[in-house]
Amino acid sequence: MLHFGIDLGGTNVAAGVVADDGTILGKASLPTPRGASLDGLADAIAAACEAALGTAGVPREAVGDAGVGTPGAVEPSRGLVTYCCTFDLYNAPLAAAVSQRLGLPVALENDANAAACGEMVCGAGTAVRNLVAVTYGTGVGGGVIVDGKLLTGVNHAAGELGHIVIERNGLPCSCGRRGCYEQYASATALIRRTREAMAQNPSSLLWQFAPTEEEVTGRTAFDAAGAGCALAKAVVDGYLEDVACGLVNLVQIFQPELVVLGGGISGQGEALLQPLQAVLDREDYARFHQVRTKLAIAELGNDAGIIGAALVRRFQKE
Ligand SMILES: [Zn+2]
Repeated sequence: MLHFGIDLGGTNVAAGVVADDGTILGKASLPTPRGASLDGLADAIAAACEAALGTAGVPREAVGDAGVGTPGAVEPSRGLVTYCCTFDLYNAPLAAAVSQRLGLPVALENDANAAACGEMVCGAGTAVRNLVAVTYGTGVGGGVIVDGKLLTGVNHAAGELGHIVIERNGLPCSCGRRGCYEQYASATALIRRTREAMAQNPSSLLWQFAPTEEEVTGRTAFDAAGAGCALAKAVVDGYLEDVACGLVNLVQIFQPELVVLGGGISGQGEALLQPLQAVLDREDYARFHQVRTKLAIAELGNDAGIIGAALVRRFQKE
């Protein structure tokens, strides 16, 4: 049986026709309608699924169910998006709305959780049963899989890894707390830190990598550090210390076999992994044990959300 997997994002609705082993037979992406209602989103999801079916070249009857990964808090057992500020949805029956259009049973999951599942199906985590996936992007998101099942907590809201505090009374966060991990470790935070360093150092080599502050990206400081810029190296080092702080916290709590690092920053590969591994080797409470938590870069990129959503049922508790 094949499955529709849908990654509902603020910018695009990506859908794929996915086999049991996680292979994507066809996929399509449509722009998310701006300011859409529940029905508008469900229409866009159905349209993306039809387009994906077209590229897969398989009969419609071959697809037996669907799964949707969405930003925000969800209640999968009732098919509800409990709260999602990206789309202004509150207790919205998204699963039923999509099910009505596709004529298939529809599972619902948080998008970061779905991406963690995707990495376990056919990405970096195929060999493990305990995995923490952390995404360093606009914010910091995550998913936690324990013994092959998503850790959800009583409200299906566990695993909000970006909102653990690493600096008490630190920078204010949109969640209402101060000093949250994502205020220091997201790509947004790295861009902010890079701009601050540039503003204070008008003659820095950093300006050659981003002639204006608007052109600063998550890569700028890494690129300039690689070219020998001492200021950029200081920015990267400070950023990685904060990334490592939150990461070791997560390892102490979950002691997973594997932590998968995703999001735009994960494109740095070894320049990211090696310094983080060094801190983990020094600070992991279980560092004297034979089996150690490993770090890996996410392998599936944007496809993780599609694959994970398509096959999310196997990771959800009954
Ligand atoms: Zn927060």
